Amino acid sequence: MSSGDLEPIILDFSRFYILIILYEGPCHGYSILSKFKRRVGKDISPSLVYPFLKQLEEKGLVKHSIRIVGNKRKKIFELTDEGREFCKRLFRRFSALVSATIEPNLTVCANCGCKIYEGGYREVINGKEMVFCCIHCAESYKRETEGI
Ligand SMILES: [Zn+2]
Repeated sequence: MSSGDLEPIILDFSRFYILIILYEGPCHGYSILSKFKRRVGKDISPSLVYPFLKQLEEKGLVKHSIRIVGNKRKKIFELTDEGREFCKRLFRRFSALVSATIEPNLTVCANCGCKIYEGGYREVINGKEMVFCCIHCAESYKRETEGI
């Protein structure tokens, strides 16, 4: 199972931010909506949040449990170990992207996001030249994006 194919849809601020909220700890759907609103200053539609949570769950990145609060059943969502790893990689890549924008002469590894001051390992993947800090990062990047 691969989480690589999830990345294109996460190039979307709202979904990216939902992952940040989940990364902070377990929460129920409603608290995702209210945290998002409080921090981003914008409403997020439940019709975006719930299908996204379901999709993450199908990928094995999120799991839920039922907690009884008073006489209400609440669904608590949390990241699985795999989901936490996925987020860590995503955040590292995102910060690499940001530092590459701020420091345009700097190259960062497309896999782990570390800074490459000289050399590095280059490989053409899907017709695009990618730069990695080492061959191992190139291998793990390919494994992930090819979904093996
Ligand atoms: Zn690397």
